[in-house]
Amino acid sequence: MAGRRRFLGLTAAALAAPMVVRAQPGLDGEVAVIGAGAAGIAAARQLIAWEYDVALLEARDRVGGRAWTDGGSLGLAWDRGAQWLHNGRANPLRAEARALGLALTDSDYDDMQVTRGAGGADDSARDALFAALEALDARMERAARTARPGATLAEIATGDSWDRAALQLSAVSMGGDPDEVSLMDTMLLESGDDVLVAGGTGGLLQALARGLPVSLGHAVMAIDLRPADHVVISGPFGTLRAGVAVVTLPPAVLAGGAVRFTPGLPDRKREALAALGPAEFVKVGLRLPAALPDAAEFAVDLAAFERGQAALLHIDPRLPVASVIFAGRHAAALRHEGPRAVAEAARAVLRHHTGAEAVAVEAHDWATDPFSRGPWARVRPGADTARRDYAAALDDRLFFAGEAAPGPYGTTLGGAWNAGLAAAGQVWDAT
Ligand SMILES: Cc1cc2nc3c(=O)[nH]c(=O)nc-3n(C[C@H](O)[C@H](O)[C@H](O)COP(=O)(O)OP(=O)(O)OC[C@H]3O[C@@H](n4cnc5c(N)ncnc54)[C@H](O)[C@@H]3O)c2cc1C
Repeated sequence: MAGRRRFLGLTAAALAAPMVVRAQPGLDGEVAVIGAGAAGIAAARQLIAWEYDVALLEARDRVGGRAWTDGGSLGLAWDRGAQWLHNGRANPLRAEARALGLALTDSDYDDMQVTRGAGGADDSARDALFAALEALDARMERAARTARPGATLAEIATGDSWDRAALQLSAVSMGGDPDEVSLMDTMLLESGDDVLVAGGTGGLLQALARGLPVSLGHAVMAIDLRPADHVVISGPFGTLRAGVAVVTLPPAVLAGGAVRFTPGLPDRKREALAALGPAEFVKVGLRLPAALPDAAEFAVDLAAFERGQAALLHIDPRLPVASVIFAGRHAAALRHEGPRAVAEAARAVLRHHTGAEAVAVEAHDWATDPFSRGPWARVRPGADTARRDYAAALDDRLFFAGEAAPGPYGTTLGGAWNAGLAAAGQVWDAT
């Protein structure tokens, strides 16, 4: 790759014969990567390693996207968004965290308190739930091979109450209720062997973005593909021209029309965006009066599951902080009631399982955040090609990456990182 200079932003200086823009010396750079979350950071790092001139354009005043470690509101580092590196050994970010010398702590799902309403931990209920989860896993594997297109998790229910609880818990991790979650899509999310990273996942992405040519506060509002040999990108910051662009914006942001594409996106892409609607997932951080080193790391109350109010409590084994997770219709209802209802529901979950009163509570509404429009994409059951269609390149000049792209670990940080690397590879192939 010829070009070695950094992208020059609005200065529009001529570049030294970069490969994809050889005939266009007036361009601002070779590759514009739009969005500095996991996918954008991975793509930018890879492209720069291959000596492309890259501009990383980010709408927010920080990098990391949906990995955002809040160091202030709870008085210690707490991840408002992504918290775990799922599927530890296969997760590309685990090796990156290791290389940065960040400590990793295994999460232990076996360390789970299960209650059935009042009365404290019920070990026989926990054993029954774990057995049901194991049976469900095996059933999902079998069903995924033969299921009709559009099958949901609810369709493989046995009717047994333990199975119902296991299904509900699995659906929580996908951000829905069992009748909303696609069976095929659930197979993407392999969790287990999950780790927490010291300083949070937002801290990890910030470290990985260090030194990248990122322009913060650059919200892209229009992408024009009409020029035959470059892409015109504009927003309140002005206009940039690049040889090619990698778009890593959440599909819900694109579906909402935040970026005007000229010519308009093909029908297939628009249908894919519509089918990748946002999951419903509310995560609440609670500052505890003191760390609870003897508490179970995870806790669920099956009585709440039966009321349709499933919640998962996580207590950080190292710090005085906990997270409560709500998903699906219950999460949506709480969100609509407002922040006070969300905070109260989370406090009640903490109180139920530990007796502790939170001293501070924090949550970010990812659903109304204009730069995410949801926690992650949940494929509409039946729209089995949506991830592929979303990620398909346009005209070998516009590439798409992010957690909504196809491939293992979709919906997660690791999936987004891999998708960013894949998009960089597509740029390489196309240029
Ligand atoms: C509450 C919550 C909990 C989660 N828990 C986990 C977890 O424990 N483990 C896990 O692996 N995953 C988890 N996830 C999912 C994970 O956060 C995402 O899969 C991942 O961060 C997505 O990365 P991305 O690069 O695809 O998108 P993003 O991180 O959203 O990056 C896209 C970037 O584009 C920017 N942008 C948006 N619009 C524009 C525009 N117009 N112009 C320029 N820039 C723009 C955004 O600001 C953002 O920085 C969680 C998510 C949430 C919300």
